[in-house]
Amino acid sequence: MKFIVPGYYKNFSCIASSCRHSCCIGWEIDIDADTYSYYGTIDGELGDRLKKNIAVSGGQPHFILDENERCPFLNENGLCDIIIQCGEESLCDICADHPRFRNFFSDRTEIGLGLCCEAAAELIINCDEPFKLEILDDDGFDDETDEDEKEILELRNFALEVASDSKHSFEDRVNRLCKIFDIESDDTSPAVWADRLSSLERLEPEWDNCLAFIGSRTELEGSLINEKAAGNLLCYFIYRHLSAACDREDMRSRAAFAVLSCRVIFTLSLFISTEEAARMYSCEIEYSDENLNEVLNLLCD
Ligand code: SF4
Repeated sequence: MKFIVPGYYKNFSCIASSCRHSCCIGWEIDIDADTYSYYGTIDGELGDRLKKNIAVSGGQPHFILDENERCPFLNENGLCDIIIQCGEESLCDICADHPRFRNFFSDRTEIGLGLCCEAAAELIINCDEPFKLEILDDDGFDDETDEDEKEILELRNFALEVASDSKHSFEDRVNRLCKIFDIESDDTSPAVWADRLSSLERLEPEWDNCLAFIGSRTELEGSLINEKAAGNLLCYFIYRHLSAACDREDMRSRAAFAVLSCRVIFTLSLFISTEEAARMYSCEIEYSDENLNEVLNLLCD
């Protein structure tokens, strides 16, 4: 099994106490079974805190967030008390893994960093290197990929080639992608997109201001002044979402989603920084399965 990552992956590190939008605030954090058993063996003051601050709902243990939606182990210095007292290896799978995502194939696991993390967004958007995939690890045991997987990977790789081809303008790259996936140009007005997005589940109240800004525009922006950053975002959405497609039709919706996501972020970049626009969009849309599916459904006609 090969473990594949984008070139920038190895440069990621959590900025912990400097993070303005810590993933330890506002997210429900489930604890995997092994870590839950381990936490049950910890004695002393930390053991007591763990017992008091973990609840089990529907058989799933999770941390009980405080009244400000903070993880009870996130201290006033923005650091994790569990890491401080027991080391990073004592974190539950979700905390240790965030902000990574994975897409699984028979011969490979593709890993990436999610835009919902501000450190990852900064790294992904401002990466100077052309987008490329690398083998992070290979245990030598590959299952054979079936025809469907091969087709998805080949088409995804071709889409990545087009999206990262800096010899062409960003607009040309998008037009080529739309041709490849038979995507018609979207003449839905920003006001309609703002309405649609505002009917979805939301995480941060500031998202309302962003949607109001989108709704006030006459059209969604087609690119950024910094075309390198625009291309980086397009490659991110293609790498993450086309790889998760189940068939060619699903790839088409996901390619349309990649283009729409870029255009929403570019438009928001006129209101807030590109990195913050990407982070917020990712939190609100990509990191809610329900919202993501809703937008994909809107794009599949
Ligand atoms: S959001 Fe990213 S940078 Fe911030 S605390 Fe979480 S992993 Fe670290």
